[in-house]
Amino acid sequence: MEAQESQTTNAALPDEENADSIIDSPFRNNPKSDMPSSGRPSVLIADDSGVNREILARILRDEYSILTAENGLTALSLLRQQDRNIAAVLLDIEMPIMDGHEFLEKKAEIAELGNIPVIVVTSNNDPENELRALRAGAWDFVTKPYKSEIIRFRLKNAILRSQLSAFDELKYLAEYDTLTGIFNKTKFFAATHEMLMANPSESFVFIRFDIDRFNLINSYYGSQEGDTLLRYIGKMLSRFARLQTKCTFGRIEADVFGVCFPFTGMAQLTEIIDRGRACLKEYRLNFDIVPTCGIYFVEDHSIPVDRMYDKANLAAKQCKGDYINSFKVYDEEMGRAVEKEQEITNEMNIALEQGQFLPYFQPKFNLRTRCLAGAEALVRWQHPVKKLISPADFIPIFERNGFISKLDYCIWEQTCRLIRSWSEKGQPLHPISVNVSRVDLYNPHLVENICLLTARYGIPSTLLNLEITESAYMDNPEMMKKITGQLQQKGFSILMDDFGSGYSSLNVLKDISVDVLKIDMRFLSDTASPERGRSIITSIIRMAQTLGIPTVAEGVERAEQADFLRDIGCDYGQGYYFAKPMPASDYEKLLAKNG
Ligand code: C2E
Ligand code: CA
Ligand code: CA
Repeated sequence: MEAQESQTTNAALPDEENADSIIDSPFRNNPKSDMPSSGRPSVLIADDSGVNREILARILRDEYSILTAENGLTALSLLRQQDRNIAAVLLDIEMPIMDGHEFLEKKAEIAELGNIPVIVVTSNNDPENELRALRAGAWDFVTKPYKSEIIRFRLKNAILRSQLSAFDELKYLAEYDTLTGIFNKTKFFAATHEMLMANPSESFVFIRFDIDRFNLINSYYGSQEGDTLLRYIGKMLSRFARLQTKCTFGRIEADVFGVCFPFTGMAQLTEIIDRGRACLKEYRLNFDIVPTCGIYFVEDHSIPVDRMYDKANLAAKQCKGDYINSFKVYDEEMGRAVEKEQEITNEMNIALEQGQFLPYFQPKFNLRTRCLAGAEALVRWQHPVKKLISPADFIPIFERNGFISKLDYCIWEQTCRLIRSWSEKGQPLHPISVNVSRVDLYNPHLVENICLLTARYGIPSTLLNLEITESAYMDNPEMMKKITGQLQQKGFSILMDDFGSGYSSLNVLKDISVDVLKIDMRFLSDTASPERGRSIITSIIRMAQTLGIPTVAEGVERAEQADFLRDIGCDYGQGYYFAKPMPASDYEKLLAKNG
């Protein structure tokens, strides 16, 4: 390929063959340098005639750095070398190898070259030819014979126009979402702020919504289908906005959109949301497209819009997976919950270091003999200021932020240490069960860690039982099977916790081998009829007996419950009726007394 620099000498016109070889312009580009050496805009002259190239170069050399090419192919490759910063192309149509038409077509396919104007140099005034060039993206024409002033003028105009359009494009990219063509987050927030400030006495509502399980649409139908749906939503919003007196809207990210408009009453708002839902239901995909909306009523027009968005977002989170209520309105309570979560997150590491997390022990009893049969270790947070915090307040947060793995390990370790010390004191030994969070199951070293712990404290694996909640089995049955199998092989017993509270509990028992079932009595209080509750428990216990799996009932609060459980063949009981979770020292006393 021959990429040639300009030969704009003041010498006599060279003959055609040698034209490209004379490179002595003070303004010529150095092909190796990053910038045109003169710092002025570069113009590329693509013409197979050396004479024509030279004439044009002479006309333009005072204002531009000149690059030349003998055919379309060379011109295209020069254009693609971005460091050359070519501001415009003067293009001859008839050239060998690649003619001007083909050059224009190829250039049009390369998005980043779109802004470089091409002025076609023609000798014939064939309108067909001109039309073809225009269709392919030519910006302007100059005709032979060359008129210096006109060429300079047209070139300058074209470059100016292209710079303006590049500027427009930048502005567009900065403000619009290229997929849907609606405002992007930044512009939407700015426009919303402006609208709110301009209408200080009017009530507004800010809605943030996304599509439930949007990722499934992408994986079932492909991301192109997902994109089409997002464009459809963009159009829906545009149509909606046209019907409003005031309205801003935009795409915030992925499948998340926002819209803000005057609030005229709850009935109207509900109707708007219902209409939006109906519109999505009509969408041609065979998929239940359901939006999840978080709503924030703008109280103070001057607070930053991203704060309003956070509040609407928080509200939306509360209705994920809720098919009846697909929108939630933000209230201060939600804000407080976030603050509380933040506070807990800030304190957790120090709390762990300072040993503020302690295991409490809730004993389990044999329902027939009423003898002590072991205990469950349940974490408590002994906070220096807030005193005893119960796990319901922090476990869900730690499961979300991953800290649960550290906490669980700390409870397992303290439990092992206590078992060891009770054994050294000659206390009767019963197994203690610890809770294993679903998050722990994703730790590839889980089995190894547990084995190392029991080994370090020199306690047999039969004394440490592991409780894994039933729903964790549902998350990933294959992985569960593997991990529980490995643990059982090492001698640990696996208790399936909260059995009956999940969905396909009965099925799962066929596939996974568990050593003990824990049935939560409390889930029965949710059922309308106590009779029905009893018959559910009875059939679970029967089934477990058939499979040869021992059962523990937890949440046993009353004597008649304990009797009933014993009568239907449940093996163990745990609950306030027998004892509440207690500090290790109290459990130790219980051991000494009842062991
Ligand atoms: P869980 O594993 O189902 O534990 C049983 C919960 O029931 C305990 O609540 C216990 O105090 C409570 N309970 C026991 N008997 C009765 C009763 O008769 N009536 C009533 N109303 N409640 C009873 P707790 O200690 O607040 O723990 C709540 C949950 O937090 C536990 O449910 C468990 O899922 C989780 N958790 C507790 N400690 C740990 C831990 O160390 N690690 C992990 N990953 N989770 C833990
Ligand atoms: Ca448990
Ligand atoms: Ca339980």
